[in-house]
Amino acid sequence: MGESLRSPISSPMPLRASDLLTLTREGLYCPLGRFYIDPTWPVERALITHGHADHARRGHGSVLATPETLRIMATRYGEDFCTTRQEARLGETIRIGEVSVRYAPAGHVLGSAQIAVEAGGVRVVVSGDYKRAPDPTCLPFEVVPCDVFITEATFGLPVFRMPPTEEEVQKLLDSLALFPERAHIVGAYALGKAQRVMALLRKAGYDRPIYLHGAMEKLTELYKREGIALGETPKVVATERGSLKGAVVLCPPSSIQDLWSRKFPDPVTSFASGWMRVRARARQKGVELPLVISDHSDWPDLCRTIRETGAGEVWVTHGQEDALVHWCGTQGIKAKPLHMLGYGDDGEAEPAEAPETAEPAPGEAA
Ligand SMILES: [Zn+2]
Ligand SMILES: [Zn+2]
Repeated sequence: MGESLRSPISSPMPLRASDLLTLTREGLYCPLGRFYIDPTWPVERALITHGHADHARRGHGSVLATPETLRIMATRYGEDFCTTRQEARLGETIRIGEVSVRYAPAGHVLGSAQIAVEAGGVRVVVSGDYKRAPDPTCLPFEVVPCDVFITEATFGLPVFRMPPTEEEVQKLLDSLALFPERAHIVGAYALGKAQRVMALLRKAGYDRPIYLHGAMEKLTELYKREGIALGETPKVVATERGSLKGAVVLCPPSSIQDLWSRKFPDPVTSFASGWMRVRARARQKGVELPLVISDHSDWPDLCRTIRETGAGEVWVTHGQEDALVHWCGTQGIKAKPLHMLGYGDDGEAEPAEAPETAEPAPGEAA
């Protein structure tokens, strides 16, 4: 009872969104709940939207995230990635301090969630990274009506319109049919994109083994344990690369142009990324077969989502913030860029320049 006397909720002053979430050096902070969302520095209490390394860092005191995200963090960082952890079930309301929070699916990667923070009749939704395009490896994005919607803008320019993923995967299948002797080396980020490409290939009827670079193995096994059917996915044995004629091989983007991939039979270099929408960029990076597959919303979906949330105010965390802020203005929606640092390094990064380095030493990840 005494609690309510000092609760701001009972005060006559209405809450503002900035009372619920405010920008600090560590990231978005909720003063009423004393927690951070996706902090870029170790903090006492962190709420995490998804497992990509720019959002989910190690070393926090307590972590609240979906069960899948907690397992992804444990897989990447080890079981001691934080001091205590708590599972957030989708749709469940959790009371923290003076606010209630609720996790809703974000459609970005396995376990990805938006976090709705609510108090005094004001709701702010932090979307993390999200997409609206179908993805067989995770739950679809749920529109959560809110007063303030906090969005990313990785592909926040009208030029970014992503094609259907089926068409992109068909390009890979067509190339395999055309060049049955050549290995197809597909660069894809190890969390989310790689498993999505595998699932799309299976959906399209491709039933041969899909070979994996060692860096893909642990997270792919985790996806399988979570019930995502990905078929046979053997790890590439370094000494047998030369025999993999006509195989599909998935590897981290940084490996598509290094010596590791040149040991395959006459390799076709491919890369699955939203950035492949920019043809010049694909050419410049020496990608022979660009696959435009993005785990982020494209421009029409960013705009559609903002409209569907009904938010009167939008905060843009990172990416092409200015264009989206401008668009909001044209729609009569208040908007501001947060210019947050430390985000965006999550797999839509560009492929690395071809390094002129030596072959990895024997025993290194193959
Ligand atoms: Zn992400
Ligand atoms: Zn991100």
